[in-house]
Amino acid sequence: MFPEDDEFAPTKKPKPVALAKPAAGHCLCGKVRFEIDVPARWAWHDHTQASRRAHGAAYATYVGSWRKRFRITQGASELSRYEDPATKTARSFCANCGTPIIYERARAPHMVNIPRALFSGRTGRQPLYHIAIEELQEWAYTGEPLVPLKGYPGVVWQRSKKKKRSDREGMF
Ligand SMILES: [Zn+2]
Repeated sequence: MFPEDDEFAPTKKPKPVALAKPAAGHCLCGKVRFEIDVPARWAWHDHTQASRRAHGAAYATYVGSWRKRFRITQGASELSRYEDPATKTARSFCANCGTPIIYERARAPHMVNIPRALFSGRTGRQPLYHIAIEELQEWAYTGEPLVPLKGYPGVVWQRSKKKKRSDREGMF
């Protein structure tokens, strides 16, 4: 079901692995640093409740890497691990700052998944896939048009559709 099978493998191009610089990233406090060989295996948006809670965010965007192409380059001793028996998954995070670092699933033991936001640069893989899109939260921002909020420089907002036109006219 998940695109970790060969059908989603990179196309037949010669592997640029040895030549390309690894993609590096780190947690918020900087104690844990890691890198993966590029290009990453795949990337996706995860809308499941477990990932939403683990990140405290509307959804999580992950980059998947073969485990053998992933390295903790600094701060391995800072990692704390939470295993969720219900979903047979494990999440490792920086014990100092709480940043989620590694998401592992028993169903794909050769893969590690890393939050896309932790990488400083490109990973060689666009997040084209969505898991559990039916769980997309109604409060998640999905690209609606935004306008400046009068009197608050730097703040934009999405005009509420619930207000009637007659109410709005008096505000601006
Ligand atoms: Zn940290």
